[in-house]
Amino acid sequence: MTARIIDGKLIAAELRARVADEVARLKRAHRLTPGLAVVLVGNDPASEVYVRSKHTQTQAAGMASFEHRLSAEIAQADLLALIAKLNRDPAVHGILVQLPLPKSIHTETVINAIDPAKDVDGLHPSNAGRLAGGFEALSPCTPLGCIILTKSVHASLEGMNAIVIGRSNLVGRPLLQLLLNENATVTIAHSRSRELARLCARADLVYAAVGRPEMVRADWIKPGATVIDVGINRLPAGDGKTRLVGDVAFREVAEVAGAITPVPGGVGQMTVACLLVNTLRAACAIAGLPKPGV
Ligand code: NDP
Repeated sequence: MTARIIDGKLIAAELRARVADEVARLKRAHRLTPGLAVVLVGNDPASEVYVRSKHTQTQAAGMASFEHRLSAEIAQADLLALIAKLNRDPAVHGILVQLPLPKSIHTETVINAIDPAKDVDGLHPSNAGRLAGGFEALSPCTPLGCIILTKSVHASLEGMNAIVIGRSNLVGRPLLQLLLNENATVTIAHSRSRELARLCARADLVYAAVGRPEMVRADWIKPGATVIDVGINRLPAGDGKTRLVGDVAFREVAEVAGAITPVPGGVGQMTVACLLVNTLRAACAIAGLPKPGV
């Protein structure tokens, strides 16, 4: 293996430590404790794991963590009423509604009900629009993590050719905007793109956010390129167990790439750390304090 392995676990731990320092400073200097409210509807096992991890990490950073667990049968109006209450609550600076929501609930209506100033998932159209316009915005956490991981390899992304495979509102589209803000030249690909391998082969930076196990192969990659694998796919590993793989064929791509993120241990680690960063930024903005140094 020739590629440098980008250690998401380590980089996320460093980021969480910096957030914790900043939270301690806010408490001391301004008596401000950033607070994150997480709303979980139903009992999807993967969502349960994510919510637990968010709770633990929020508390470990010295922030206040508020969990709201609601039945899958809850009426949409009751969920909207809870969000309105959290919007008004001065102890809450970030609101995250864990997705996916049950089919009976209209996701877009729920996201639109969150105060954009507290929208730490960066999914409200106001934040998405601000990001697209190049203005200050709360940006989705996974793409923010991708940028931090890339910058652990390249101090500047200016003029680099980047390809983002996937155009979801959660990952691909905001990542495109963040890369543009870094002055990269960006191609965004999706299920209708033609000659994906050829498009990838031109890229200095490759981001795979598709949800197809090991789709990106070694012969797609320009030698020395940096490869960031967002994909999380669960495959059967025999004896009833499962294993996680990304959207990139890690072993073979690591023979060609200059740097690569593993799955697990790459992007996934950064998502919650960036949620803490967004909560910190939201708390400072709501309190009228300068943007924190994290
Ligand atoms: P979506 O399903 O919302 O989007 C997938 C995107 O991939 C779509 O834009 C789709 O194109 C595109 N696509 C599908 N098939 C192909 C193909 N054959 N060639 C090129 N593009 C294709 O997924 P998400 O963006 O939410 O997530 C992507 C992956 O990232 C998943 O594995 C998910 O689990 C993971 N993830 C990981 C996170 C983390 O913290 N590490 C956080 C969020 C997601 P089209 O638009 O044309 O349909």
